[in-house]
Amino acid sequence: MVGNVNQEELMKSHVMHNLPGRLRLAASGLKYLKEQSGEIAAELARLPGVRLARVTACTGGILLQYDGNMLDAHELAEQVDLVLARHAMTALRTRHSENNEAPAEAPMTTARLAKRLAVNAGALVLGNTLFPAPLLGGALANFSSLEALASLGLSAPMAKSAWEGLRREHRPNADFLTVTSIVASLLLGNAHSALMILALSDLAELMTSYTIERTRSSIKKMLSADEGEAWKVMPDGKLERRPMNQIHAGDTIAVHTGEKISVDGKVVSGAAVVDQSPITGEFVPVEKREGDEVFAGTVVKSGNLRVQAAKVGDQTVISRIVGMVEASELKKAPIQRYADKFSNYLVPLNFLLCLSVWLVTRNPQKALKMLVIDYSCGIKLSTATAFSAAINTAVRQGVLIKGGTFIEQMSRANTVLLDKTGTITEGKPRIVSAVLLKDDMTLKDVLSYAMAAEETSTHPLAGAIMRYGRQLGAEPLPHADVVTEVSRGSRTRVGEKTVRVGNLEYMKENGASAASSLPADTSMIPNYVSVDREIIAVLYAMDSPRENVRRAINSLRYDGVGDIELLTGDMESQARVVAEQVGADSYRAQLLPEQKAEAVLKLQVQGNGVVMVGDGINDAPALAYADVGISMGSKSTDIAMETSDVIINRDDPMMIPELRRLARATMRIVHQNFALVIAINSVGLILGAASGISVMMSALLHNSSTILVVANSLRLMFMKPGDGRH
Ligand code: ADP
Ligand code: MG
Repeated sequence: MVGNVNQEELMKSHVMHNLPGRLRLAASGLKYLKEQSGEIAAELARLPGVRLARVTACTGGILLQYDGNMLDAHELAEQVDLVLARHAMTALRTRHSENNEAPAEAPMTTARLAKRLAVNAGALVLGNTLFPAPLLGGALANFSSLEALASLGLSAPMAKSAWEGLRREHRPNADFLTVTSIVASLLLGNAHSALMILALSDLAELMTSYTIERTRSSIKKMLSADEGEAWKVMPDGKLERRPMNQIHAGDTIAVHTGEKISVDGKVVSGAAVVDQSPITGEFVPVEKREGDEVFAGTVVKSGNLRVQAAKVGDQTVISRIVGMVEASELKKAPIQRYADKFSNYLVPLNFLLCLSVWLVTRNPQKALKMLVIDYSCGIKLSTATAFSAAINTAVRQGVLIKGGTFIEQMSRANTVLLDKTGTITEGKPRIVSAVLLKDDMTLKDVLSYAMAAEETSTHPLAGAIMRYGRQLGAEPLPHADVVTEVSRGSRTRVGEKTVRVGNLEYMKENGASAASSLPADTSMIPNYVSVDREIIAVLYAMDSPRENVRRAINSLRYDGVGDIELLTGDMESQARVVAEQVGADSYRAQLLPEQKAEAVLKLQVQGNGVVMVGDGINDAPALAYADVGISMGSKSTDIAMETSDVIINRDDPMMIPELRRLARATMRIVHQNFALVIAINSVGLILGAASGISVMMSALLHNSSTILVVANSLRLMFMKPGDGRH
């Protein structure tokens, strides 16, 4: 999730001064609440016993004058914390978006690196033609030629990072090494090679930042293309589905179980449990009722809300997109974290080598070469560029991978679990027949009840019933909010009556039965419609497997996935038919959402790497538990997309084996990269210590390994779906 924000810490106040009747507190979170500081001061002033309250947002300070007879400082501080806690969410969001605007260690942009290279080239040319002589004489001659000055100027940002590294981690980092080698080159009177070292390392970085920027912009494009829709509450109380650009501040929208809240605003009615982790990183869902604030990008886990929009559109959407990209960078693969750590430990090795070579040979040139050749940046780039290139390739095919770690997990997985309805099947079921059980009701009457209960449900079967009804000219009866009963059905109230649509279990649980016997047909999905306790009709739906599922499953098996299972909330008979049709190894039927998650856990406990593919609310827990949760399909629910690690925006099951292929190719490339870096640099170190190759030659060798690594990773960008398809 997005950072590990600790809400508690951020908004907790600390006592700075405490004189009788006067209390000075500090809370670090206040600096994110500049706009609200007046409001907070007013709230504090209203606390009983407080005479005066002053809030200085930029320093995080609070000054209170209070009646010492009424309150003690300790009690007062507790009261203050309660007031601050109410603003915690706003502070977190501001902090989050600020962090995104200006990342702490902004990597250099492509444009800036290009400029640096131009300056470098300019200095090389001019330094060798028009201005070869140093400006100063004596000891400073080596540092005052044009080339030397240019290389000193260009290494300034690295010097800064080297200093930061020393200060924060008490350890020399890769930049420290580079700066040392540049200064050493200059000392030895070799400004030429100093510039070359800089040019080559900038070139490698340019290629890296280019990959990363391309990836970012592809992700943004992909996400902004579908800005989504929301249920707008019309003046007459009816709900209408509207694209987000038609929702304005002040409008009221309805949000149901499994849907994403698409605006920032206040709850005007309803109650729900909301998952705010996409915004706050806080895993525990919170309850929201009338008067509470809700935030765009959070998801309703259960219940229904009416929300009056305060902020809509761009503001919220963009911040979410950026948040997502940032979050994906936080989710580094284990191999990447390992490589980063490893490469940090390699830096001191260079200094050790440098010292030993100097002690043995007493040759400063040779010793310097030990500093020019380092493993660390190549090793770091080996993983970073490969993952970034792979994420980019995937995004261009409509697949969003939320972090390098999922590429590694995907390459290792040996078990794939597939949800049935909406994932294996098209999720576009059609109602093909209906059995009416009451003589005094026409099909249209029945449908107007069924449509009322399904109008705002996100389940594919609900869509089937709505479409079927509209075709026959039926309209949903006026009704109360629709309540989703995950894996069972959906209900609402029409006047005094309770209307339900769902499977037989759902009917039984609620004591609904039919006057006459019910026909059974295993090849279709029965949807029972009940009014109060009477089943009034059965609507039969057909949902055919997607094209290509069989091929996708075969392809996965060929690629080393040993176990492919189908998980469904549907009946046994349905599950068996579909499992046979698509060639799955086995199936588990009539699973509730928690049981799907349990199935994932059991397989993991046995040591399997588990991929779960699903689309619905009922798949969310399993998606969250799986090593790689994949939400698939253009009709995937918000909650499935939010909890999954990979979003496949296309309705093509072949994207699953494609993803696997990409993941394995990526890991192969990462390993090749490691080998390249280690081989080339080891040769370089040996040659450097033992032979007379120039410092420039060493720099060239070292940087060629880095550039090779980046180029090797870039190959992933040219992978097309279907390359080497079995
Ligand atoms: P799956 O796990 O295969 O995706 P679900 O758990 O979503 O299936 O649903 C299981 C069964 O619950 C469906 O086959 C259907 O009978 C019933 N059901 C769930 N929601 C609804 C609904 N909104 N309308 C009708 N039936 C529903
Ligand atoms: Mg489903």
